[in-house]
This record gives sequence, C-alpha cells and structure tokens, in this order.
Amino acid sequence: MPEKDPKLHDILRDDVRTLTGIGQPAESEPMPVDAAIRAVAPRPVPSIVLSVAAKDAKEVSRLLAKIPEQLDDRVARYPVKIELRFDAIPDFSGRLTAASLVFRLGVPLILTLRARREGGHSTATEPDRQRFFLSVVGALRKAPPPGSLIDVEAQAVAADPEGWGQVLQQAHERGFHVLLSHHDLEVTPEKAQALLPSPNLLDQTPGGGALLWKSATTVRTWSQDLAILRALARGNAGSRRAAIMGMETATSRLLAPFFGAPLVYAAIDRDHVVARGQIPFADMVRVWARWGIDVEDAALAATDGTPAPRWTLLGRPAYHSLSPAMHNGAARAAGRAERYFPLEVPEHTGTGSALEVFRQTLDTLPELGVRGGNATIPFKVPLAATADRLVGDAEALGAANTFLLDGDQLVAHNTDPHGVRAALEEAGAELADARVLVVGAGGAAAGAVHALRDSAGVSVTNRTTEHAQEIRDRVHGDVTVIPWQDRAAAAREATLLVQTTPLGMTGGPAPDESPLPADALREGQTLLETVYIPTMTPLMKQAEAHGVRVVGGTAMLLHQGAESFRIWTGEDPPLAAMRRDRKSVV
Ligand code: NAP
Repeated sequence: MPEKDPKLHDILRDDVRTLTGIGQPAESEPMPVDAAIRAVAPRPVPSIVLSVAAKDAKEVSRLLAKIPEQLDDRVARYPVKIELRFDAIPDFSGRLTAASLVFRLGVPLILTLRARREGGHSTATEPDRQRFFLSVVGALRKAPPPGSLIDVEAQAVAADPEGWGQVLQQAHERGFHVLLSHHDLEVTPEKAQALLPSPNLLDQTPGGGALLWKSATTVRTWSQDLAILRALARGNAGSRRAAIMGMETATSRLLAPFFGAPLVYAAIDRDHVVARGQIPFADMVRVWARWGIDVEDAALAATDGTPAPRWTLLGRPAYHSLSPAMHNGAARAAGRAERYFPLEVPEHTGTGSALEVFRQTLDTLPELGVRGGNATIPFKVPLAATADRLVGDAEALGAANTFLLDGDQLVAHNTDPHGVRAALEEAGAELADARVLVVGAGGAAAGAVHALRDSAGVSVTNRTTEHAQEIRDRVHGDVTVIPWQDRAAAAREATLLVQTTPLGMTGGPAPDESPLPADALREGQTLLETVYIPTMTPLMKQAEAHGVRVVGGTAMLLHQGAESFRIWTGEDPPLAAMRRDRKSVV
C-alpha cells in the first residue's frame, strides 16, 4: 500500500497538478511517435526532470514536499517530471512505495535503476535489473501518469536484446515510454555524432522501440562542451528526441531550451544535487526568464531537419547580459524565427590559447544554427582580429561587437559608436558644438571618442594615461589627453560627459563610487553613463541633483543592439519591443 502522507499530498495536490496539468490515465493504444513526443515533452521548452535519489520512501516524500517551496508564477509554468533513482533505495518495497507516492501526485515519472558504471549505486546483475523492472512495472496497478518513462542503458540493451525486449514490452503495455540512455563518467567524445544514437537505434530498440535518447557524459574541456551543444542542435533538428547533457559544467543544461531538447535534468534545490553540473530547477528557470524565454515559444523547438536559426553572445561573463532578453523580444515582435543565447566561453579550457579557443568557438557556430551574434569582453578585439572583413567603425577601432556569418565569411561590425550617438540624439543632446570629456579609456571609451570625433573638442581622461594616449593615436583626431588627477577641472569645462569606467557598476570594483566629484557637474551639461546595471549609478544621481541632462547606459545598450539587429536581418529593429524587454529584466 502507498505510504500515507496527508501533508505531502495536500501540499502537492494543487501545486503539482496545476504545474503539470496531469492526472488522466494513459492511453492503452500505442501512440504515433509525434503524439508520444508531445506527451513526454508537451511544451517547446524542455520538460524539467527533477532527480530524486533518496534512501527510502519517507525521504522521497520529504524531498517531494520541497518542490512547492521552489515554485513561483514563472517556475510553475514549466512542465516537470520526477526521476526516481531506485538504485538509491535498497529494498523492493521501499522502491514500490516511492513509485506509488509519485503516482498519487500524478506527476510523470522516470523509473531508473542505475549501475555504478553509469553513475548510480546499483550492484545488481543484468538479469536482476531486468527482474526488478519486470516486477515493479507488473506490480503497479494503475497506468503511470502520461509522459512517464522507463530509463534503460543503451549498452545494456545491446548486450541482451532479448531480456531487455521483454522488460520494455511490458513497460510499453503498462503505459510507459522508453528512454534509452548513455553515461560516460570519464570523458565526452569530441565528435557530436558519437553522442547521438546511431540511425534507427531508437525505433529498432527491442520491445517496441525507444522514444527518447539521453546522453550524460563527463566534460573536461571546452571542446567537449561544444561537442555536446553540436549534438543537441543536430539531435533535435528533425524531431525532439535527444537530451544531451554534460557533467561538471552547466553549459548544456542552461542552453538546452535553445536547441529543442525534450528534457533537461535538474536538482530540486541546492542541497540535493544528484549529478555533477545539475542546477536547482528554480534557479535555472529564473536564468531563462532573464534571457526572455517564453515556455510557449514555438521557435524554441524547430523541426524542419536543420538546426533552428540562432544569434549568440560570446563573452566572459555572458550569462548576466541583458542582450538575450532584448533580442529575443525583438525577434518575437518582428515575427522572426531566430532566438538569441549567451555562450560563456571559459578561461581555462584544457586546450589551446585563448585566441585559439575563441576561434574554435566561432568555427562551431554554424553547426549550432548561429547566423550572427555579438561579442563582449574579452572578445571584442579577438573578433576584429579573426574576421574576414571589418565594416565601418570596427576597422578604425580594431574591435568589433557584432558579427554576421555570411556564407563562409565572418563579417564584423562595431555598433557601440552608433549606440552612443543614437542615445544622445534621442535625448536631444546637441553633438556638433559639444565639448566632450570621456572618462575611461577602454573599449567603450574608444567607441565614444570615435562617435563624437566631429564635435567641437574631445578630451579623454583615464587612470592609466598611456591607454588614453593609445585612443588618441588610434583615432588620428584632435583628442586631448587629460591627466586623471585633473579630471574634475576638465569636467567643469565640458558640456558633454561620457562615463565609461566600471565605477558605479553592480559587481564592479567600486559599485558605490563615482569617478567625478559633485562640484564638477552643473546645469547645461549632458551626461552619458555607459554602465547599465544598476540603471541609476551614483554619478547619475549626483548629475540629476545638479540639473545635468542624464542619459543612462540602457539607452546606449538599446541602440547598439538595435543596430546589431539591423545588421543581422536587414530590417528596421522593433525598438519599442526591445526597450520593453530590456527594461523588464533590469
Ligand atoms: P574596458 O575595456 O575593460 O575598460 C575599462 C576602463 O575603465 C579602463 O579605462 C580602465 O582603466 C577603467 N577602470 C577600470 N577600473 C577602474 C577603477 N577602479 N578606477 C578607475 N578607472 C577604472 O571596459 P569597456 O568595454 O570599455 O566597458 C566599460 C563599461 O562600459 C562597462 O561597465 C560596460 O558594461 C559598459 N559598456 C556599456 C555599453 C552599453 O551599451 N551601455 C557598451 C559597452 C560597454 P585602465 O585603463 O587604467 O585599466
């Protein structure tokens, strides 16, 4: 008999039933593959599989009760399944009680009995493992909740097709679908094909075929992470049947929605991570929400046989960026199929120099369906150095933030100068007569100097004077370098201030500091702040208090992004949608 736990039942009944929209008995007729895929992966986003590895049914019930604690309106919209790791429960009756608990909730279930070599605890022989599945499936009196799966190791099935055929046939008869899985605790092969099932393997699996494929392999290098992304893109281009994940890294789990993955595994919370690289599911959904992912967005799961068209952001860090929300909103508003994902290229990759790793990443992009993208710190100069062609401002700046893959040509642009000009013009600032002081001498400063070089005069001040001199030399213009200690006096003389240091930035070196004293600010001046998190920096507050016209960093972000959109699509950017979606995540 199922263990009685009214508290758990009460808590989960409403929350989990609404969460998953389940509770109907399974069809007894075998479903066509497309309908079966819709049953196990009902939304364009992956179904989140919550792994539960507990030592007995009581512990399972305690863990299940933690699920509602993690739910908010956004998280609750995602479809979930519960993976019961039977190998963690030593006795048969405990396993059966645990399964019944999940049945009672009506949440789709994944039954797993993983051997040690597959990352589990079970030491059962293969015949024992088969007997276990037969008895557990046979003992279940009701059909499992629709979308439930039995997870069996591909290698084990290949070694004993007859024995496993019986198990899988019985599982099918009871209403389970089959997930064929592959684990490698040592390494990930760098050929994407090696991570995918051989042609027809799923359909020819004994006992009625397998519906889905899962691969979980240990990632040791960036090339291996990229191989997993390539396998995800390739494996789900025709239909959504391949859940490919890397252990030790979060990349493939975070990016799974952009490649049509049917499932992604996650932890219930921080204290219950059962495989290396798993992320608590609510955290994962919150990251996706920041990236502007909509659970019902059909463009996330394209099925025309080629990887879906994508744009990307290459950077380190990249996952915090506002650009994904802005560009995903833009693509949706414009009715376009592209979606935008950030790709955080790590510093320590196991192989190659930083530039080689960057180039290898660029080389992988076509296989991921990427047609264009952005580069941010530290890849703006490497992008310009790698491009086949530099267009417009990128050539003069020697740095690029936007690229287009045009056939086999990598074409790079720099949209920062456009962002500076358009943000200031939109605010009504007069540029031609402006006396400009740029504070800072990094990439953003170079873009600003370039954008404003035709104004009445441009000065640059920076902590490291040589960097300001380098900008002056590069622009070949009439640029004055002001010593850092003289910046307050120079600011008083200026009519337009452009702040490009990370001072005042959340997570930066000095979030509470302003690079200019309050008495350097006065009415009649305009300030362009390039920092956009937070939207109101200490300098902006000081400036507003002194009657300065203030233009925030989000305005520049919007306009440089809008120009990227124009480069990728040849269309006018949907500015209103980009403004809204960028703001919604700040
Ligand atoms: P970067 O190339 O690394 O340059 C940073 C500049 O800030 C350098 O001049 C550096 O001086 C100076 N700096 C760093 N820490 C400092 C400190 N503690 N005190 C004084 N100066 C300091 O960075 P970037 O690409 O120019 O980006 C700078 C900022 O602009 C970032 O906050 C970025 O988010 C923002 N940005 C915004 C947009 C937008 O669209 N709104 C676009 C691009 C960049 P040294 O030369 O002495 O190191």
